[in-house]
Amino acid sequence: MQRELSETANFIRLAERNSSFETDWAIARFERLKAVLNSDQGQAHIILRFGERAGIACVQGSVSADLDVLCQRCMQAMIQHVAGEFLFGLIRDEDAADLLPKDMEPLVVQGEEQSILDIIEDELLLSLPQVNAHAEQCSEYLRQQNERREVDKIASSPFAVLKNMMSDKA
Ligand SMILES: [Zn+2]
Repeated sequence: MQRELSETANFIRLAERNSSFETDWAIARFERLKAVLNSDQGQAHIILRFGERAGIACVQGSVSADLDVLCQRCMQAMIQHVAGEFLFGLIRDEDAADLLPKDMEPLVVQGEEQSILDIIEDELLLSLPQVNAHAEQCSEYLRQQNERREVDKIASSPFAVLKNMMSDKA
């Protein structure tokens, strides 16, 4: 397992060498992902295994991260754990996709280098739930609701009215 992973690489060459990587990347690297987060704090844990399966060059990977998002119910920050796995069959053109085993997704490789950053970022985006929300209840949201109710109660009590009248005179 190599710890150093560059953002682009020649996938076919890595597959020929059976290269594998395990590393952590700062979330701040992923521009598209950052756009949907509350902050870019944290790391993504990445495992990539390049190699060959059934005579086809492929890359198998898993990625996980604790992402700082906003709960869409109470609009407070929350940590959303995401995890995803993928297996890409490396092909030279779209037509070859039909030849891949069913468990492989096609990944067309063109030119010298392919983007590792893009496949990791795509996987992170795909593993984010459609709606981020606190699993149990929004404790902060409920606390604020209760406080608001208390304030309303106090404001409408006769003593509060009296107090308001007195302070108006002062
Ligand atoms: Zn919430």
